[in-house]
Amino acid sequence: MVKQFINRAAQIVSNAARFSVEFLFPSSCPLCGAPVSTDGELCAECWTMFNWIGRPCCELCGYPFPANLDLGSHPLCPNCASGGCALDLIRSACVYDGVSRDAVLPFKHAGRIHNAKFMSRAMIWALRDVDIAPDIVMPIPLAYRRLFHRGYNQATLLARPIANAFGVPMDLDSVHRSYRPDMGHKNAAQRAENIHGVFRVKRPENVCGRKILLVDDVMTTGATFAEMRRVLMNAGAIAVYGVTFCRVARAI
Ligand SMILES: [Zn+2]
Ligand SMILES: [Zn+2]
Repeated sequence: MVKQFINRAAQIVSNAARFSVEFLFPSSCPLCGAPVSTDGELCAECWTMFNWIGRPCCELCGYPFPANLDLGSHPLCPNCASGGCALDLIRSACVYDGVSRDAVLPFKHAGRIHNAKFMSRAMIWALRDVDIAPDIVMPIPLAYRRLFHRGYNQATLLARPIANAFGVPMDLDSVHRSYRPDMGHKNAAQRAENIHGVFRVKRPENVCGRKILLVDDVMTTGATFAEMRRVLMNAGAIAVYGVTFCRVARAI
């Protein structure tokens, strides 16, 4: 009897505490602040504003094709059809546009790390029907100087839940990135030239013989991915995949 009373009292206190927390800090949409049922999730209105990438898309790089286009079961974009895919497979959750930019830029530069939750969930969703089995998940490294100024690597925040979803370790220290000034609005050739040689595999034993899933927030030209793949394959990796929250998808 006494035990039951104590249990009930504990339950009431715990419910009251939960109610107070929810009353004081209700779950809200990270973008507009509207109430949502699950912490970190987008509200329905914000969710529909994104240009989410589904099928049909390029089988290799995930480039989105118009929905009414019947390209068969293994569609390839012209770049991938000519062997130009930066990695062995890439997927992105949505197209880079005004809406995704407004989610990514504050996340990357203004400490809005709360956005990582819905972004990483969308990235896991983007990988739902691809046949890959990575051994490690690796966020694109940040140069120490940038890490020092920013305080965090946004790609690491996205990579952690993705590594958990695959049940594999996250690798944060096998590749070193040296500092280069910002790439700004350079074209594909200039970006490729600017990124060449910035990555160095410090611990080849960690990547040799492994299938690696790279994680980044945005894919612009794919030059960063291609350069990472080059150094990882030189160090003995057997496959390099990539996933980003959004990607530039110019008309082809
Ligand atoms: Zn919202
Ligand atoms: Zn493609």
